[in-house]
Amino acid sequence: MAKIGINIATGSLQQAEMIVGIDLGTTNSLVAIIHPESGKPTALKEFDSSSLVPSVVHFDGFGNAEVGDAARAFLETDPSNTIFSAKRLMGKSFNDLKSNAGFFTYKVIDDDTDSLVKIQVGDRFYSPIELSSFILKELKNRAEHILKTPVTKAVITVPAYFNDAQRQATRDAGRLAGLDVLRIVNEPTAASLAYGLGLHKDEEKTIAVYDLGGGTFDISILKIAGGIFEVLSTNGDTYLGGDDFDRAVMEFFLQQVGIPFHEIKNDKSQLQSLRLMAEAAKKTLSSEEQFSGKWNEYNLSISKSEFNSIIEPLVSRTKDCCAKALSDACLTVEQIDAVIMVGGSTRVPLVKESISAFFGKQVNDSVNPDEVVALGAAVQADILAGNNKDFLLLDITPLSLGIETMGGLMDVLIPRNAKIPNRASRQYTTQKDGQGSMRISVFQGERDLVQHNRKLAEFNFTGIPGMPAGLPKVEVSFLINADGILSVTAKELRSGVEQSIEVKPQYGLTDEEVEKMLLDSITHAKEDMTTRALVEARTEGEQILEVTEKFIAKNPELLSSEELVQTAAAMQNLQLALTMDDKNLIQIKIEELNEISRPFAERAMDAAVSGALKGKKV
Ligand code: ADP
Ligand code: MG
Repeated sequence: MAKIGINIATGSLQQAEMIVGIDLGTTNSLVAIIHPESGKPTALKEFDSSSLVPSVVHFDGFGNAEVGDAARAFLETDPSNTIFSAKRLMGKSFNDLKSNAGFFTYKVIDDDTDSLVKIQVGDRFYSPIELSSFILKELKNRAEHILKTPVTKAVITVPAYFNDAQRQATRDAGRLAGLDVLRIVNEPTAASLAYGLGLHKDEEKTIAVYDLGGGTFDISILKIAGGIFEVLSTNGDTYLGGDDFDRAVMEFFLQQVGIPFHEIKNDKSQLQSLRLMAEAAKKTLSSEEQFSGKWNEYNLSISKSEFNSIIEPLVSRTKDCCAKALSDACLTVEQIDAVIMVGGSTRVPLVKESISAFFGKQVNDSVNPDEVVALGAAVQADILAGNNKDFLLLDITPLSLGIETMGGLMDVLIPRNAKIPNRASRQYTTQKDGQGSMRISVFQGERDLVQHNRKLAEFNFTGIPGMPAGLPKVEVSFLINADGILSVTAKELRSGVEQSIEVKPQYGLTDEEVEKMLLDSITHAKEDMTTRALVEARTEGEQILEVTEKFIAKNPELLSSEELVQTAAAMQNLQLALTMDDKNLIQIKIEELNEISRPFAERAMDAAVSGALKGKKV
């Protein structure tokens, strides 16, 4: 429900600002809200037109951008100035795209293969973030035009497999479009919300979200429990979708009229009209048995069964992906409670039938598959707006996050599978007297030694005031916001000196990498534990040696010469033990040194206390 408030200071009526939900798709994008009157998620559209905005940006000779249907018309006729599928480029380097370079009809810059890609249009260069921001701006304008109010807050969806870099890029695109992105939500999570799944705290379900769009196919297996959506596995094919159905129909038509493909391949406008005809045929066959149309002087026709047989191999490939996703999640089809259909291409009857047969249950297709993701994003937006108080949507961290401590050990601050948003902090101290800075290295992973984990960021915390080793209290805090973006702060508590960074890794992890890191941590668990114990013992030993050495240098009068000799011997033994890979031996030597030094440590303490008492003024 829309909330109307009264500004107590001015007495004027204030309408709470609407937070919109946006599906930023590879092929189509759209914006949705919870309708203020009906309370139902609703996709926004201009009177008498589609809610879908094709995710296409066309640049004219002056660098002016046009988005949506108007831009789509230029796909074949002005391919080098018409950018489609910008979503595929988000957070990617040319190296990442190399194997699919032929897919793009516009110029993807390849001179700096390792940093993020740029697109060249005429003499201008655009980042994928800018290109996506054009689409988002269009959606924002549309929403403002229809709602007659400024729209500045949004929830945007991304595929479940999007890594940190891609999520961050999406967020930046929103910011560039003038939107405050309150949350990035996984597309399958949004789809389940649109179906009302996961809206109850005590609900527990395992579901499959089958998303066949224009150019991509994603299958996600989600576990919903207590308001938490856990992605158990994802699979798919980033180059398989409705466009491939269109291509198959185009080939069918050309065969029908006896024209070899290479004959029209360079005739852009012929190609365009044939593609449009093929797509129209495909859509017609989603509800009818037969399609016929006229292309130039030719009569074209295709029946539903002909269509089914040419797309069957493509549908079959999606089933292979489903099987893989299930086995990755260690589940059988019987354990899946519901299968949700997402994406325009799931309107194809053969797709629904095949997937129902595969999972052994009727798929859910009651919510418009083109809109379902945006509708779910609107549900999430409504929750964030505080209109659904008893429900909080949570995500979890895929891998543990921590910092490097002495000896290259991983000190976990936020464990794997922790709820997001989350925060944690821990205190550290210096190793050396007068140490003015401390290197904070942030890692992600499950292994005990940071060298086996993945470094996310590093910064040098400077400005620690000069103090003896062990005195400064440096509190390191991790904060993961609702989008899963981590910021790390270090603060010296005695002086209040503070520094922080937002962790924006240029490249995040793919699902396979996350999986590999988890597997590694299991296979190496024992070995890691031994190494950790050894490193810890060594660190402790080194510290004790340093402290003892310092103590002797400072307080020579507190030790008898006999004690000095004994201590020196014990120190030497420990030093020797440190060079060997034997944790037990190190511990024994530490204990021996402690045994000898304990009495004079106590003496020193007494001296310090009486000194302090003497100095105290009343
Ligand atoms: P994306 O998620 O990739 O942005 P969409 O979910 O919007 O894409 O799906 C777009 C695809 O859906 C296009 O290939 C389009 O032709 C196809 N599509 C839309 N309506 C139908 C229909 N009625 N029958 C078959 N395919 C359809
Ligand atoms: Mg989609």
